[in-house]
Amino acid sequence: MSHVFPRHTKANLPTVSHGEGVYLYDKNGKQYFDGSGGAAVSCLGHGDRDVIDAIKAQLDTAAYAHTSFLTSQPAEELADKLIGLAPPNIDRVYFVSGGSEAVESALKLARQYFWEKGETKRKYFIARRQSYHGNTLAALATGGNEWRRAPFSPLMIETSHIAPCFDYRERKDDETLSEYALRAANELETEILRLGAENVIAFVAEPVVGATLGAVPPVEGYFKRIREICDQYGILLILDEVMCGMGRTGTMFASEQEGIGPDIVTIAKGLGAGYQPIGAMLCTAEIYSTIENGSGFFQHGHTYIGHPTACAASLTVVNKLVDHQLVERCAQMGEKLNTALRSTFSQHPHVGNIRGRGLFRGLEIVEDRESKRPFSPERAVHKKIKNAAMDAGLFCYPMGGTVDGVHGDHILLAPPFILDDSHIDEITDKLSIAIERGLS
Ligand code: PLP
Repeated sequence: MSHVFPRHTKANLPTVSHGEGVYLYDKNGKQYFDGSGGAAVSCLGHGDRDVIDAIKAQLDTAAYAHTSFLTSQPAEELADKLIGLAPPNIDRVYFVSGGSEAVESALKLARQYFWEKGETKRKYFIARRQSYHGNTLAALATGGNEWRRAPFSPLMIETSHIAPCFDYRERKDDETLSEYALRAANELETEILRLGAENVIAFVAEPVVGATLGAVPPVEGYFKRIREICDQYGILLILDEVMCGMGRTGTMFASEQEGIGPDIVTIAKGLGAGYQPIGAMLCTAEIYSTIENGSGFFQHGHTYIGHPTACAASLTVVNKLVDHQLVERCAQMGEKLNTALRSTFSQHPHVGNIRGRGLFRGLEIVEDRESKRPFSPERAVHKKIKNAAMDAGLFCYPMGGTVDGVHGDHILLAPPFILDDSHIDEITDKLSIAIERGLS
């Protein structure tokens, strides 16, 4: 009997044997195409020698040093590198061990920033329904996924949720895209006014929604208006790029495509590409200097922040993304994947919507395409498709959830950036089989 505590206590998962390129293998010798990169993590694929060598070299020198005593060369170099790639107003990097820690750090930094300025009344975050920002308590409270929040609802910090920017489900028939973008963004203004701007800390959003809706990009103009509203009312804009950042959508930061910059941005997943657990929270010079010139101490921290081995792995990952033009490759291969998905599934009676950017693509599965009527949640269609895909030798990431009472079954694809044309056919072939079997 296993003593591992799995997330799905009823699941009986195969044991991983090894990984190579775009494939993972289990102990029975079965090969799986890593079509979801785990959960949008494995941007370089598996078994990358350069990253493995960098980890070994760091272990041979100093595996770990606590940041109360020492900084490290990989952390310093990685921070410099990221600042060179980040939106122009971003100036400082705080390294943590994953996405939830990055978001948790961002929320606390935002609150402390105002506290340092004497604006201590501010206590509300505004986020969006059907979003996911992590599983630690404050990150969970910010997320708007009711299913994930339900057992912990009495423990939630004060967050209110507005509608997601979700063209397929939320745009009215008689609305143009720009009218919809404006209406969706203006919900933020209404909510700020309801709470009182002086009580609000920040608006938190994923530029391209990942873990709950399967790669939903914003409508053009939405984030420009969001940025305007945040500036007008003096609240911070926190962008969560844990899943959609690090090149996944075809630009290093997803927000680049919106033409705006955040005050704080979080990254993880592709930052370590799965070779080490690492995340980061990046902020503006204004936020950093307010703390530097105030208490001089960010009231936060973990034992493993700035972990040298994780930073060494990540530095090699980021260098490879840049030196081998892998983000550009992600954009190009993403277009090919998009074309292939559309030619395979756009007439499929149960594929209601195909969406995404770069190698971050989502399919929404519906019972009836015309009316967009979803399958009933009891059928757990997304889980059945995931299981059928595994049988067929493909990992795709399943999501089920409800936005404003409407259930959705979503499938996320986020393959490694190193895939080639034949792999795109492999994804569509295996996914076709999985959808047929999952719905049968
Ligand atoms: N934020 C977003 C947008 C995510 O997609 C996730 C994970 O899926 C997280 C935060 C939490 O990251 P982690 O699972 O590394 O804690």
